[in-house]
Amino acid sequence: MTNYLYQEQNWQSQLSDLITDPRELLEVLQLAPEQLLSGAILASKQFKLRVPRAFVGKMQTGNPLDPLLLQVLPHHLELEEHPGFVTDPLGEEQANQQPGVLHKYKSRFLLTLTGACAVHCRYCFRRHFPYQENLPKNEDWINIKQYLESQPDINEVILSGGDPLTLSNQKLKTWIERLESVPHLKFLRIHSRVPIVIPNRVDEELLSMLKNSRLRIILVVHSNHASELDDFTCTRLNQLVQHQITVLNQAVLLNGVNNSAQVLVDLSYRLFDAGVMPYYLHVLDKVKGAHHFDLASDHINEIYTEVLASLPGYLVPKLVREIAGEKNKTPLFGVSTFLS
Ligand SMILES: *Cc1c(COP(=O)(O)O)cnc(C)c1O
Ligand code: SF4
Repeated sequence: MTNYLYQEQNWQSQLSDLITDPRELLEVLQLAPEQLLSGAILASKQFKLRVPRAFVGKMQTGNPLDPLLLQVLPHHLELEEHPGFVTDPLGEEQANQQPGVLHKYKSRFLLTLTGACAVHCRYCFRRHFPYQENLPKNEDWINIKQYLESQPDINEVILSGGDPLTLSNQKLKTWIERLESVPHLKFLRIHSRVPIVIPNRVDEELLSMLKNSRLRIILVVHSNHASELDDFTCTRLNQLVQHQITVLNQAVLLNGVNNSAQVLVDLSYRLFDAGVMPYYLHVLDKVKGAHHFDLASDHINEIYTEVLASLPGYLVPKLVREIAGEKNKTPLFGVSTFLS
């Protein structure tokens, strides 16, 4: 699609003008609504459609199997029940004691400042997570600070979500300054899909705020397919790199979207063009409603073996699964060979 409007429009307007109606999305893409519409309307009742126009602009019109569309269009298959696919696959409801914080991994502390995302990814493990009740308020900072100070092993705070880059620069600044005041923190990590779906979010103010922080900043973006990375998006990602921010990518292995070695190889090279290093390739979390994105382990092994053979080691994302209760993400490839 040719849609260059989004390169001009500021990110705040783009964020307040998302497509949320399945009928509109299908019309914009010139897809015959009756094929997909009824399922989309039903499935969107459980987890709403939400997608920025800039992201839709990267989709192919007339292609109901477009890999970007499949990630965001609600589908009737989401309504099927499948054994093992549950609402809280990672057991986060239990782990979550204080509002908005999660300390599962030794050196890293997860802080959720917003439950909102710019895009709703249909495979997301958070599609059933009750954030709104559980976000830290300004007055909670005192408790969070005390906790961080009592845990000298924590050297990194991760802003996750929801998506922290849906917050205003002012709000982000307030939290970054708070974190900077904890002496033993060294790293601030931001997990966000916004630079991919609304590249204009990477504005001057954000760049200079991150560049000037005392904390070393790592931005982990989330892109699953090279088509998400058009020239404009890559330019914005590269500006982050130019401002001394380490930019990494995590992807999720998704049936119908990127379940081919060639697609993953193209993604890695495209990221590298933008100065972004591949980090994780996640196996799907078994969340209710996402079964149709799942892949058999044999198929995963086959794809990943080919990825390993095709890319230089530094462009191979680590294949991992998150297992509830484990002390880190679990690597899925090569460990058994190494141990035997
Ligand atoms: C994924 C995750 C992290 C970060 O793990 P890394 O392996 O360092 O990327 C931290 N805390 C929680 C709860 C996580 O799920
Ligand atoms: S942007 Fe991230 S947290 Fe938000 S719906 Fe997509 S995968 Fe989930």
